[in-house]
Amino acid sequence: MKDNQPITQDLVFVGGGHSHAIALKQFGMNPVPGVRVTLITDVSHTPYSGMLPGYVAGLYSFDDCHIDLQRLSQFANAVMVLDRAVGLDLQHNRVLLANHPPIAFDWLSLDIGSTPATLTVPGAADDTVPVKPISQFLHNWDRIVAEVAAHPDQPIRMAVVGGGAGGVELSLAIQSRLQQIYEAANLPSNLTLHLFHRGDRLIPERGKWAGQKLHQILEQRGAEVHLSESVAEIKRGEVRRWGDGEVSAKKVCCESGLTVECDWVFWVTQASAANWLASSGLATNQRGFVLVNNCLQSVSHPRVFAAGDVATMTHHPRPKAGVFAVRQGKPLVKNLRRALAHQPLHSFVPQKNF
Ligand SMILES: Cc1cc2nc3c(=O)[nH]c(=O)nc-3n(C[C@H](O)[C@H](O)[C@H](O)COP(=O)(O)OP(=O)(O)OC[C@H]3O[C@@H](n4cnc5c(N)ncnc54)[C@H](O)[C@@H]3O)c2cc1C
Repeated sequence: MKDNQPITQDLVFVGGGHSHAIALKQFGMNPVPGVRVTLITDVSHTPYSGMLPGYVAGLYSFDDCHIDLQRLSQFANAVMVLDRAVGLDLQHNRVLLANHPPIAFDWLSLDIGSTPATLTVPGAADDTVPVKPISQFLHNWDRIVAEVAAHPDQPIRMAVVGGGAGGVELSLAIQSRLQQIYEAANLPSNLTLHLFHRGDRLIPERGKWAGQKLHQILEQRGAEVHLSESVAEIKRGEVRRWGDGEVSAKKVCCESGLTVECDWVFWVTQASAANWLASSGLATNQRGFVLVNNCLQSVSHPRVFAAGDVATMTHHPRPKAGVFAVRQGKPLVKNLRRALAHQPLHSFVPQKNF
């Protein structure tokens, strides 16, 4: 915004997800006079999730698959606040932050994604690595890769919980990356990889053939696939030396009685929403996702918009996938501009196939 332009409205973005990355770019290309744009984000670099398994497999670098939100904010002339939103005060239109005073808004847009649901399984929240937030997951993964590269002769036992597309893709990427390390060291694989899935076939959201084929590929690559196994508890096992440090074993305990000991457990189950959304009074569905109309506007609070995984369109619910978050970017921008101009909003219908 130009220095001499009086600020008449505050537009606050929470989360630098896929829809907001597009929105910020568009606001940078075509700014709205008199509007102060603020981005609240808990990370300075946000990942493009579709490339995450490629990063794990060693195909992409960090920079390849991350968007630098500081640079994007500069381009959009937005103030970037590096902090985690922890609540909303919807009576006074303020976002509550973990480490800063509340930030007031006239218009608010939420694109904070989702995390795998773990809380119902005892031990999972403390002793597993959820695949989201991705920054945290990648921090753990980078450490594992460094340790395996330094000590490829040491056995490592890993588990992935969740046999949907994300879990299967992640399992293949893990195996592929570590295999490269073993081959470079001229050693046989020291990886034991278990994939646990509640259903009786992998990626149930796709046809039977795809699930069977992926099952076969995983087994060819040495992974142990446990179908119809619901993980009921994660128990902490003994601490052992691993690499230059220590790792405490985790026992993956299934309802059937099957128990498998692993060093690392990655959690890639069904998406869930942050608790503070529902507790702030926003209308949400049973899983806590913000209910929005065809204009991506909250059905309970018209000054609040939401897009990406965190939003569920009441008339057009879709699976939680990054492609929808990307496609919602443009309609979100259009409607935020119209809201700022006090004009009627435009509806849109998301694509069915992806
Ligand atoms: C292994 C794996 C592979 C996947 N592959 C694909 C794929 O190939 N194609 C596909 O379409 N989908 C894929 N998905 C699904 C995809 O990850 C999500 O649907 C997508 O990331 C949703 O985008 P989003 O914009 O809603 O949120 P996100 O991309 O999750 O972005 C949310 C942002 O908000 C930030 N944030 C979160 N909470 C807060 C807070 N409280 N305060 C401030 N900032 C916050 C986060 O740090 C992040 O930067 C995959 C998922 C996984 C786990």
